[in-house]
Amino acid sequence: MKKMPSLFIGHGSPMNVLASSPWSASLRELAAGLPLPSAILVVSAHWLSPGIRVTAAASPVQMYDFVGFPESLYRVNYRAPGNPALAHEIADMLANAGFPCREDAARGIDHAAWAVLWHMYPACDVPVLELSLDYRLAFRKWFDVGKALGPLREKGVLLIGSGNIVHNLYEFDSETDAQPYPWTVAFNALVKEKIQVRDWESLAGYATPTEASRKAVPTPEHYIPLLTTAGTMEEGENIRVFHESFQNASVAMTSYIVE
Ligand code: ZN
Repeated sequence: MKKMPSLFIGHGSPMNVLASSPWSASLRELAAGLPLPSAILVVSAHWLSPGIRVTAAASPVQMYDFVGFPESLYRVNYRAPGNPALAHEIADMLANAGFPCREDAARGIDHAAWAVLWHMYPACDVPVLELSLDYRLAFRKWFDVGKALGPLREKGVLLIGSGNIVHNLYEFDSETDAQPYPWTVAFNALVKEKIQVRDWESLAGYATPTEASRKAVPTPEHYIPLLTTAGTMEEGENIRVFHESFQNASVAMTSYIVE
């Protein structure tokens, strides 16, 4: 079985599921060029919990985890199967790496996963699991979580961190294609630069508001999945941008592939 790459995908507003854009085109094109995964594990910016959890339902429900959006968004139907045996295996792998993980058979799949997979795997024919963010875990530990999950790639599992490198809803402009703020562009460029030189310490540091990240990362949940994706990178592999755009002035859709 061919080793799968690992991805970080900027997801932005749930409305991106309904739009055809360079972002959605990049996801379709990327998925079309990959072997069909045996399963997909999404580290979700939209699932925070005390301790790490993994979805373990055989048939997880689709969660419409947002309010005040047009009716058409609530009609988007993405119902992929789960994989309880794989959830168990993931929980074991993480526990062995020092990260106790609870299998959660009640939790469904939120839009950090389905709004992205809708474009990548529209047939819903690949099992989808999600991993939560343990809000008590030190930010630098997310690289280690990624490292612990890395061996799944050899089994055909596609690992996706789904969040946004710049995500500030307080300064959100209602126009999707509004000109990005200077700090949106600057932080996106800074992260790219730090990734190029593998400066993981600085990258983990930005999850706590610093002078550089205060505006771009006012809360850490959309940023953390990037750290997990970076942690999956193995000796001899590379990480590069496969899509870059900005939305609503304060959101970066920049997406990375590790291969
Ligand atoms: Zn989000």
